[in-house]
Amino acid sequence: MTLKTVSLVIPFFNEGQGVAPFFQRLMQTCHKLKARYAFQMVCINDGSTDATLDELVKARQTLMGFLADDNASEITITIIDFSRNFGKEAALTAGIDHATGDAVIPMDADLQHPPELLPVLLEKWEEGYEVVLAQRTSRHTDHFAQKFAARLFYKLHQKISQIHMPADVGDFRLMDRRVVNAVKQLRENNRFMKGIFAWVGFKSVLVPFEVEARSTGHSSFNVWKLWNLALDGITSFSTVPLRVWTYLGGLVSLTAFLYASYIFVRTLVYGVDTPGYASLMIAILFLGGVQLIGIGVLGEYLGRVYSEVKARPAYIIRQIIS
Ligand code: UDP
Ligand code: MG
Repeated sequence: MTLKTVSLVIPFFNEGQGVAPFFQRLMQTCHKLKARYAFQMVCINDGSTDATLDELVKARQTLMGFLADDNASEITITIIDFSRNFGKEAALTAGIDHATGDAVIPMDADLQHPPELLPVLLEKWEEGYEVVLAQRTSRHTDHFAQKFAARLFYKLHQKISQIHMPADVGDFRLMDRRVVNAVKQLRENNRFMKGIFAWVGFKSVLVPFEVEARSTGHSSFNVWKLWNLALDGITSFSTVPLRVWTYLGGLVSLTAFLYASYIFVRTLVYGVDTPGYASLMIAILFLGGVQLIGIGVLGEYLGRVYSEVKARPAYIIRQIIS
Protein backbone atom coordinates (compact mmCIF):
# COMPACT_ATOMS: atom_id res chain seq x y z
CA MET A 1 0.00 0.00 0.00
CA THR A 2 1.41 3.39 -0.90
CA LEU A 3 0.97 6.07 1.69
CA LYS A 4 -0.62 9.41 0.95
CA THR A 5 1.96 12.16 1.00
CA VAL A 6 1.46 15.30 3.03
CA SER A 7 3.63 18.31 2.17
CA LEU A 8 4.39 20.83 4.89
CA VAL A 9 5.43 24.24 3.62
CA ILE A 10 7.42 26.14 6.22
CA PRO A 11 8.92 29.61 5.63
CA PHE A 12 11.96 30.51 7.74
CA PHE A 13 13.21 34.07 8.15
CA ASN A 14 15.86 34.54 10.83
CA GLU A 15 14.55 31.63 12.90
CA GLY A 16 18.01 30.16 13.68
CA GLN A 17 17.23 29.60 17.37
CA GLY A 18 13.88 28.08 16.55
CA VAL A 19 14.82 25.47 13.94
CA ALA A 20 15.85 22.67 16.33
CA PRO A 21 12.85 23.00 18.73
CA PHE A 22 10.52 23.24 15.74
CA PHE A 23 11.67 19.98 14.18
CA GLN A 24 11.81 18.28 17.54
CA ARG A 25 8.13 18.97 18.17
CA LEU A 26 7.03 18.43 14.58
CA MET A 27 8.74 15.03 14.44
CA GLN A 28 6.82 13.80 17.45
CA THR A 29 3.57 14.35 15.58
CA CYS A 30 4.90 12.98 12.29
CA HIS A 31 6.16 9.92 14.11
CA LYS A 32 2.66 9.18 15.40
CA LEU A 33 1.25 9.48 11.88
CA LYS A 34 3.97 7.58 10.05
CA ALA A 35 1.89 4.45 9.56
CA ARG A 36 -0.65 6.38 7.52
CA TYR A 37 1.20 9.20 5.80
CA ALA A 38 4.49 10.03 4.18
CA PHE A 39 5.73 13.56 4.82
CA GLN A 40 7.53 16.00 2.59
CA MET A 41 8.84 19.05 4.38
CA VAL A 42 9.53 22.02 2.17
CA CYS A 43 11.54 24.55 4.16
CA ILE A 44 12.15 27.93 2.61
CA ASN A 45 15.07 29.99 3.85
CA ASP A 46 13.77 33.46 3.00
CA GLY A 47 17.12 35.28 2.90
CA SER A 48 17.85 34.89 6.59
CA THR A 49 20.85 36.83 7.87
CA ASP A 50 21.43 34.55 10.84
CA ALA A 51 22.33 30.85 11.05
CA THR A 52 18.93 29.62 9.83
CA LEU A 53 20.32 27.90 6.72
CA ASP A 54 23.07 26.10 8.65
CA GLU A 55 20.53 25.04 11.25
CA LEU A 56 18.20 23.74 8.55
CA VAL A 57 20.98 21.74 6.91
CA LYS A 58 21.98 20.38 10.30
CA ALA A 59 18.40 19.44 11.18
CA ARG A 60 18.06 17.74 7.81
CA GLN A 61 21.20 15.68 8.34
CA THR A 62 20.15 14.66 11.85
CA LEU A 63 16.78 13.63 10.55
CA MET A 64 18.19 11.68 7.63
CA GLY A 65 20.45 9.77 10.01
CA PHE A 66 17.55 9.09 12.31
CA LEU A 67 15.34 7.93 9.45
CA ALA A 68 18.00 5.56 8.12
CA ASP A 69 17.68 3.63 11.41
CA ASP A 70 13.91 3.78 11.36
CA ASN A 71 13.02 2.53 7.90
CA ALA A 72 9.32 2.58 8.71
CA SER A 73 8.98 6.33 8.15
CA GLU A 74 8.94 8.10 4.88
CA ILE A 75 9.94 11.67 5.54
CA THR A 76 11.89 13.96 3.24
CA ILE A 77 13.17 17.47 3.81
CA THR A 78 13.75 19.87 0.97
CA ILE A 79 15.44 23.19 1.66
CA ILE A 80 14.78 26.02 -0.77
CA ASP A 81 17.33 28.76 -0.27
CA PHE A 82 16.29 32.19 -1.59
CA SER A 83 18.86 34.62 -2.98
CA ARG A 84 17.52 37.31 -0.61
CA ASN A 85 14.49 38.07 1.57
CA PHE A 86 11.39 38.04 -0.64
CA GLY A 87 8.80 37.99 2.15
CA LYS A 88 6.52 35.36 3.58
CA GLU A 89 4.05 35.42 0.69
CA ALA A 90 6.83 34.66 -1.82
CA ALA A 91 8.22 31.95 0.45
CA LEU A 92 4.82 30.27 0.65
CA THR A 93 4.50 30.53 -3.14
CA ALA A 94 7.86 28.82 -3.65
CA GLY A 95 6.95 26.11 -1.15
CA ILE A 96 3.64 25.41 -2.83
CA ASP A 97 5.32 25.34 -6.25
CA HIS A 98 7.73 22.65 -5.01
CA ALA A 99 5.31 20.64 -2.88
CA THR A 100 4.29 17.35 -4.48
CA GLY A 101 2.03 15.92 -1.77
CA ASP A 102 -1.61 14.85 -2.01
CA ALA A 103 -2.26 17.52 0.60
CA VAL A 104 -0.28 20.67 1.36
CA ILE A 105 -0.15 22.42 4.73
CA PRO A 106 1.61 25.78 5.11
CA MET A 107 2.67 26.46 8.68
CA ASP A 108 4.85 28.96 10.55
CA ALA A 109 8.30 28.00 11.79
CA ASP A 110 7.93 29.70 15.18
CA LEU A 111 5.62 27.03 16.65
CA GLN A 112 2.72 29.48 16.79
CA HIS A 113 0.91 26.92 14.66
CA PRO A 114 1.00 23.79 16.87
CA PRO A 115 2.02 20.62 14.98
CA GLU A 116 -0.35 18.71 17.27
CA LEU A 117 -3.20 20.07 15.13
CA LEU A 118 -2.00 18.16 12.05
CA PRO A 119 -3.93 14.95 12.90
CA VAL A 120 -7.14 16.99 13.24
CA LEU A 121 -6.59 18.66 9.86
CA LEU A 122 -5.87 15.30 8.24
CA GLU A 123 -8.95 13.74 9.79
CA LYS A 124 -11.20 16.40 8.25
CA TRP A 125 -9.43 15.93 4.93
CA GLU A 126 -10.16 12.20 5.06
CA GLU A 127 -13.81 13.09 5.68
CA GLY A 128 -13.81 14.68 2.25
CA TYR A 129 -13.12 18.37 2.83
CA GLU A 130 -10.78 19.86 0.27
CA VAL A 131 -9.74 22.78 2.48
CA VAL A 132 -9.39 22.54 6.24
CA LEU A 133 -8.90 25.96 7.82
CA ALA A 134 -7.30 26.39 11.20
CA GLN A 135 -9.09 29.25 12.93
CA ARG A 136 -7.50 30.85 15.97
CA THR A 137 -9.87 30.91 18.93
CA SER A 138 -8.29 33.91 20.58
CA ARG A 139 -5.85 36.66 19.84
CA HIS A 140 -4.32 36.67 23.30
CA THR A 141 -0.84 36.96 21.80
CA ASP A 142 -1.84 40.24 20.11
CA HIS A 143 -2.18 43.57 21.85
CA PHE A 144 -5.35 45.68 21.78
CA ALA A 145 -4.59 47.78 18.69
CA GLN A 146 -3.65 44.67 16.71
CA LYS A 147 -6.91 42.95 17.64
CA PHE A 148 -8.92 46.01 16.68
CA ALA A 149 -7.11 46.42 13.36
CA ALA A 150 -7.53 42.75 12.51
CA ARG A 151 -11.25 42.88 13.19
CA LEU A 152 -11.64 46.03 11.11
CA PHE A 153 -9.66 44.50 8.25
CA TYR A 154 -11.70 41.30 8.06
CA LYS A 155 -14.98 43.25 8.31
CA LEU A 156 -13.98 45.66 5.54
CA HIS A 157 -12.61 42.89 3.35
CA GLN A 158 -15.81 40.92 3.65
CA LYS A 159 -17.86 43.99 2.72
CA ILE A 160 -15.98 45.11 -0.36
CA SER A 161 -14.46 41.99 -1.91
CA GLN A 162 -16.16 39.14 -3.70
CA ILE A 163 -14.26 36.44 -1.86
CA HIS A 164 -15.15 35.26 1.61
CA MET A 165 -12.20 35.22 4.00
CA PRO A 166 -13.34 33.89 7.39
CA ALA A 167 -12.07 36.02 10.29
CA ASP A 168 -9.00 34.86 12.22
CA VAL A 169 -7.97 32.32 9.61
CA GLY A 170 -4.36 32.65 8.54
CA ASP A 171 -2.12 30.65 6.25
CA PHE A 172 -2.27 27.59 8.52
CA ARG A 173 -4.59 25.23 6.66
CA LEU A 174 -4.71 21.97 4.75
CA MET A 175 -5.28 22.04 1.01
CA ASP A 176 -6.07 19.07 -1.17
CA ARG A 177 -3.97 18.57 -4.34
CA ARG A 178 -6.89 19.88 -6.44
CA VAL A 179 -6.89 23.12 -4.47
CA VAL A 180 -3.11 23.44 -4.72
CA ASN A 181 -3.23 22.99 -8.50
CA ALA A 182 -5.82 25.76 -8.67
CA VAL A 183 -3.72 28.04 -6.44
CA LYS A 184 -0.71 27.46 -8.70
CA GLN A 185 -2.62 28.91 -11.65
CA LEU A 186 -2.77 32.32 -9.98
CA ARG A 187 0.56 33.82 -10.98
CA GLU A 188 -0.09 37.42 -9.94
CA ASN A 189 2.77 39.45 -8.56
CA ASN A 190 0.95 40.97 -5.61
CA ARG A 191 0.65 37.79 -3.68
CA PHE A 192 -1.78 38.01 -0.80
CA MET A 193 -1.82 34.29 -0.12
CA LYS A 194 -4.79 34.23 2.27
CA GLY A 195 -6.86 35.89 -0.45
CA ILE A 196 -5.52 33.63 -3.20
CA PHE A 197 -6.34 30.57 -1.09
CA ALA A 198 -9.88 31.85 -0.52
CA TRP A 199 -10.39 32.91 -4.14
CA VAL A 200 -10.07 29.38 -5.54
CA GLY A 201 -13.02 28.16 -3.47
CA PHE A 202 -13.60 24.41 -2.85
CA LYS A 203 -15.33 22.66 0.02
CA SER A 204 -13.96 23.92 3.30
CA VAL A 205 -14.37 23.45 7.02
CA LEU A 206 -13.09 25.35 10.06
CA VAL A 207 -11.10 23.79 12.86
CA PRO A 208 -10.40 25.87 16.00
CA PHE A 209 -6.93 26.10 17.48
CA GLU A 210 -5.20 28.03 20.22
CA VAL A 211 -2.40 30.21 18.89
CA GLU A 212 0.78 29.84 20.92
CA ALA A 213 3.42 32.36 21.85
CA ARG A 214 6.47 32.47 19.60
CA SER A 215 9.06 29.81 20.54
CA THR A 216 12.03 32.19 20.25
CA GLY A 217 12.88 35.53 18.64
CA HIS A 218 10.28 38.09 17.71
CA SER A 219 7.73 38.63 14.94
CA SER A 220 9.08 40.18 11.75
CA PHE A 221 5.77 41.89 11.03
CA ASN A 222 5.70 45.43 12.39
CA VAL A 223 2.76 47.82 12.05
CA TRP A 224 3.98 49.22 8.72
CA LYS A 225 4.45 45.75 7.17
CA LEU A 226 0.99 44.69 8.39
CA TRP A 227 -0.56 47.88 6.98
CA ASN A 228 1.00 47.17 3.59
CA LEU A 229 -0.14 43.55 3.73
CA ALA A 230 -3.68 44.80 4.46
CA LEU A 231 -3.48 47.19 1.47
CA ASP A 232 -2.36 44.29 -0.73
CA GLY A 233 -5.24 42.24 0.62
CA ILE A 234 -7.81 44.89 -0.23
CA THR A 235 -6.47 46.04 -3.59
CA SER A 236 -5.83 42.49 -4.83
CA PHE A 237 -9.41 41.44 -4.33
CA SER A 238 -11.57 44.55 -4.67
CA THR A 239 -11.92 47.51 -7.00
CA VAL A 240 -14.41 49.24 -4.69
CA PRO A 241 -11.81 51.78 -3.47
CA LEU A 242 -11.34 52.85 -7.11
CA ARG A 243 -14.98 53.01 -8.03
CA VAL A 244 -16.18 54.74 -4.88
CA TRP A 245 -14.74 58.02 -6.22
CA THR A 246 -17.34 58.15 -8.98
CA TYR A 247 -20.10 58.18 -6.41
CA LEU A 248 -18.28 60.44 -3.99
CA GLY A 249 -17.57 62.86 -6.85
CA GLY A 250 -21.22 62.74 -7.86
CA LEU A 251 -22.33 63.49 -4.32
CA VAL A 252 -19.90 66.39 -3.92
CA SER A 253 -20.91 67.82 -7.33
CA LEU A 254 -24.60 67.60 -6.43
CA THR A 255 -24.02 69.32 -3.11
CA ALA A 256 -21.94 71.98 -4.83
CA PHE A 257 -24.68 72.55 -7.42
CA LEU A 258 -27.36 72.94 -4.75
CA TYR A 259 -25.20 75.31 -2.74
CA ALA A 260 -24.29 77.28 -5.88
CA SER A 261 -27.98 77.69 -6.74
CA TYR A 262 -28.63 78.94 -3.23
CA ILE A 263 -25.77 81.47 -3.37
CA PHE A 264 -26.87 82.58 -6.83
CA VAL A 265 -30.44 83.28 -5.74
CA ARG A 266 -29.33 84.88 -2.50
CA THR A 267 -26.97 87.20 -4.35
CA LEU A 268 -29.76 88.22 -6.75
CA VAL A 269 -32.13 88.96 -3.89
CA TYR A 270 -29.83 90.45 -1.25
CA GLY A 271 -26.90 91.61 -3.37
CA VAL A 272 -23.21 90.89 -2.87
CA ASP A 273 -21.87 90.37 0.61
CA THR A 274 -18.08 90.14 0.74
CA PRO A 275 -17.26 88.06 3.85
CA GLY A 276 -16.73 84.41 3.05
CA TYR A 277 -13.09 83.74 3.80
CA ALA A 278 -13.89 80.90 6.19
CA SER A 279 -16.29 79.05 3.91
CA LEU A 280 -13.94 79.48 0.92
CA MET A 281 -10.96 78.13 2.83
CA ILE A 282 -12.94 75.20 4.15
CA ALA A 283 -14.22 74.27 0.70
CA ILE A 284 -10.76 74.58 -0.92
CA LEU A 285 -8.94 72.63 1.78
CA PHE A 286 -11.59 69.96 2.09
CA LEU A 287 -11.90 69.35 -1.64
CA GLY A 288 -8.11 69.49 -2.04
CA GLY A 289 -7.79 66.78 0.58
CA VAL A 290 -10.50 64.65 -0.96
CA GLN A 291 -8.88 64.91 -4.38
CA LEU A 292 -5.47 63.94 -3.03
CA ILE A 293 -6.93 60.87 -1.35
CA GLY A 294 -8.56 59.95 -4.67
CA ILE A 295 -5.26 60.32 -6.49
CA GLY A 296 -3.54 58.31 -3.76
CA VAL A 297 -5.96 55.44 -4.25
CA LEU A 298 -5.36 55.60 -8.01
CA GLY A 299 -1.64 55.46 -7.24
CA GLU A 300 -2.07 52.34 -5.10
CA TYR A 301 -3.68 50.52 -7.98
CA LEU A 302 -1.41 51.98 -10.66
CA GLY A 303 1.66 50.87 -8.70
CA ARG A 304 0.30 47.35 -8.56
CA VAL A 305 -0.56 47.37 -12.26
CA TYR A 306 3.04 48.46 -12.89
CA SER A 307 4.46 45.56 -10.91
CA GLU A 308 2.10 43.10 -12.62
CA VAL A 309 3.10 44.39 -16.07
CA LYS A 310 6.79 43.92 -15.30
CA ALA A 311 5.89 40.32 -14.44
CA ARG A 312 9.03 39.67 -12.44
CA PRO A 313 9.23 36.27 -10.76
CA ALA A 314 7.91 36.22 -7.19
CA TYR A 315 11.21 34.80 -5.88
CA ILE A 316 14.73 33.78 -6.93
CA ILE A 317 16.26 30.55 -5.64
CA ARG A 318 19.98 30.28 -4.94
CA GLN A 319 19.96 26.52 -4.34
CA ILE A 320 17.68 23.63 -3.53
CA ILE A 321 18.95 21.07 -1.05
CA SER A 322 17.01 17.84 -1.27
N1 UDP B 1 8.66 34.88 7.45
C1 UDP B 1 9.27 34.75 6.20
N2 UDP B 1 9.71 35.89 5.57
C2 UDP B 1 9.56 37.14 6.11
C3 UDP B 1 8.91 37.24 7.36
C4 UDP B 1 8.47 36.10 8.01
O1 UDP B 1 9.42 33.65 5.68
O2 UDP B 1 9.98 38.10 5.48
C5 UDP B 1 8.20 33.64 8.15
C6 UDP B 1 8.68 33.49 9.59
O3 UDP B 1 9.94 32.85 9.64
C7 UDP B 1 7.59 32.64 10.20
C8 UDP B 1 6.34 33.09 9.45
O4 UDP B 1 6.80 33.71 8.25
O5 UDP B 1 7.79 31.25 9.95
C9 UDP B 1 5.51 34.08 10.28
O6 UDP B 1 6.30 35.17 10.63
P1 UDP B 1 6.19 35.89 12.03
O7 UDP B 1 6.13 34.90 13.13
O8 UDP B 1 7.29 36.90 12.09
O9 UDP B 1 4.81 36.64 11.89
P2 UDP B 1 3.54 36.64 12.86
O10 UDP B 1 3.42 35.25 13.43
O11 UDP B 1 3.80 37.67 13.88
O12 UDP B 1 2.41 36.97 11.95
MG1 MG C 1 4.75 34.09 14.27
